[in-house]
Amino acid sequence: MKVMRLPGLAFILLLQGCNISAPAPGPDFPTSEMADIVFYNGTVITMNEDYPEGQAIAIKGKKILGVGTSLQALATANRTTQLIDLKGKTIMPGIVDAHTHVFNDRDRFGLDLPGAQELLFKNGITSLGNLFCTEEFVAEMRAFEPLLKVKTSLFLTKTFPCGEIQDSWYHGYPATRTPGEVLRINGIKITADGGTCGGMAVSEEFIPGTTGLGDLWHTQDEINAMVLEADKAGYQVAIHAIGDRAIEQAQNAIAYALDGRPNVLRHRIEHNSAIRPDLIPRYSEFGIIPVIFGWKKICDFYPRSPFYEAADFPYRTLIDYDPDLPVAWHGDDPYRGPVNPFIELHSMVTRTEVSETGALCTPPSWLAAQTIPVQTALKLMTLNAAYSLFRDDETGSLQTGKYADLIVLSANPLTIDPQDIHGIEVQLTMANGEIVYRLP
Ligand SMILES: [Zn+2]
Repeated sequence: MKVMRLPGLAFILLLQGCNISAPAPGPDFPTSEMADIVFYNGTVITMNEDYPEGQAIAIKGKKILGVGTSLQALATANRTTQLIDLKGKTIMPGIVDAHTHVFNDRDRFGLDLPGAQELLFKNGITSLGNLFCTEEFVAEMRAFEPLLKVKTSLFLTKTFPCGEIQDSWYHGYPATRTPGEVLRINGIKITADGGTCGGMAVSEEFIPGTTGLGDLWHTQDEINAMVLEADKAGYQVAIHAIGDRAIEQAQNAIAYALDGRPNVLRHRIEHNSAIRPDLIPRYSEFGIIPVIFGWKKICDFYPRSPFYEAADFPYRTLIDYDPDLPVAWHGDDPYRGPVNPFIELHSMVTRTEVSETGALCTPPSWLAAQTIPVQTALKLMTLNAAYSLFRDDETGSLQTGKYADLIVLSANPLTIDPQDIHGIEVQLTMANGEIVYRLP
């Protein structure tokens, strides 16, 4: 990519050299406003169903002026506009990680908060949910707020990973929904079963003869009371539930608190690793957001009970049952694999894995049956994850009026061989209209 500033109207000459055979001009492109930055001559994956792909994008201040053809975007340039020739490269919305610990567990990477933010931008993540927040951590993030550029949504701990119930300290930190705020309190986190502590709560042994039935931390009445109390106080609730017994309990608790009302606070269930088939329809029934892992270990794959073959990260089943269900992706780093959304994307669309020696490990057929198309997986990692954080009006797609959170990629994930997706590199990251990372 080459950055240049052109004198006067000389940029018109550029048009002769770039591809102007775009299918259609982009909608809502203002003609009276001038852009600060224009990316042109590339492919813009918008995640906007009304205009899925453009050639160029114009940015003014923190926001997107328009997405459309190179001609349209360059028409908003004047002598001070920064022009970036994509030379055919691809832009997409910044990745939204619905649930991560990169900030609160930064020590595991040996990083401080600025270093953790750099790691996120290097990997194209521009918005996230931080799912373990003590009062001390909230204070740390507030102190870091002047330097914080990743849109960060905090979920305050009501219970710890072994289920230890905390008091309602979070009442000192009301939930906010102000568009554009970088640091936000979204809600609270409740842990229903094991995972980081103890085992996930299942109704049959996951790996026969070895894993037991796991640990459910609360009674149904206890978890009902916690969800109801938080719902009444206006907090979004995120319930960690890995095994099917915990998922069922979490669904019951949310249904109890809603009592027939729509899920306007967007209560979510985290992980959802083993969803028993009878629990699939209940997400749609109560409007619950399932937050699901992307990457899956395929090399050295371990055998499991046939009971769970149809239940293991069942994206395809969830989406086939209800295409409008906002299934959201989460990386949950540093607990699962490296921070790399394109390894996660590769896993969701192929369910294969490249081993340390470079060999391709392939899945059993029941697991391969849960793969989803690239476009669908990208929605889980952008718009749907943004929805799960109340950020879908701000980010998650590239269209006029949203914040300019975007990434430039080394290849187009929609057109390259899906087996090569894991090697896609983030070459530039922009957050709120500011270039925050460039591949050296
Ligand atoms: Zn987590």
